[in-house]
Amino acid sequence: MSYAKKLVSVLKILIKEILDLIYKRKCINCACQINDGILCKTCAKLVQNLPPFAQGVVNNYPIFSAFYYEGVIKKLIQSLKFKHNKAVSYYLARFLADYINKIKNNKTNELNLENAIIIPVLTHPVNYNKRGYDNVLLIAKNLAEITGYSLNSTALRKTKYTKPMYKLTRKERLHNIENSFELNVDFNINNPVILLDDITTTGSTLEYLTSLFRKKGVYNLICLTVSKTKKF
Ligand SMILES: [Zn+2]
Repeated sequence: MSYAKKLVSVLKILIKEILDLIYKRKCINCACQINDGILCKTCAKLVQNLPPFAQGVVNNYPIFSAFYYEGVIKKLIQSLKFKHNKAVSYYLARFLADYINKIKNNKTNELNLENAIIIPVLTHPVNYNKRGYDNVLLIAKNLAEITGYSLNSTALRKTKYTKPMYKLTRKERLHNIENSFELNVDFNINNPVILLDDITTTGSTLEYLTSLFRKKGVYNLICLTVSKTKKF
């Protein structure tokens, strides 16, 4: 990104923050005025977790998704991803922390997340530079702070820019994502891993990523996504 572009993007964020201070905050979902947080009380009630058990399995690892990618949650994810609303990452992390407690308390999951390591599925540096930040990394940082789990953002690295997945067929998706990540095992493989992403659409990305972990002998792993589409 050029210096001028960077300056413009920093100024935009600054102006937005100043405006937020002068004018009262607005609910991200319905735009009514609120005193704190990001949602009004009515919209906060619309945030409902999916049941606390695995929504699917890839390469023998369970996938837990806290919400459907729709309604309020969709707006929050998009606001974080496209509108520079970084504060949203803290609230999404809080929702995830609540969901983690629920799935841990559900004995049928038989989860042991003691000393877990959160490994975020980062975007390619191209996207990072466009935005100036990585949305999943922000959620992961907040989640690590809230839960006390450690964060590892160096183990999994995206090495190839991939096309957006939503328009591709399953075969095209797998081809698109092949060899697009590198896993560097710089952590204790006996500790449980929480592989974190914001959305899962068909599970193709998670299927590919978990295969990398399996090859390296990481057997104690869960996939955790903020949301999933109804396709999944
Ligand atoms: Zn509202």
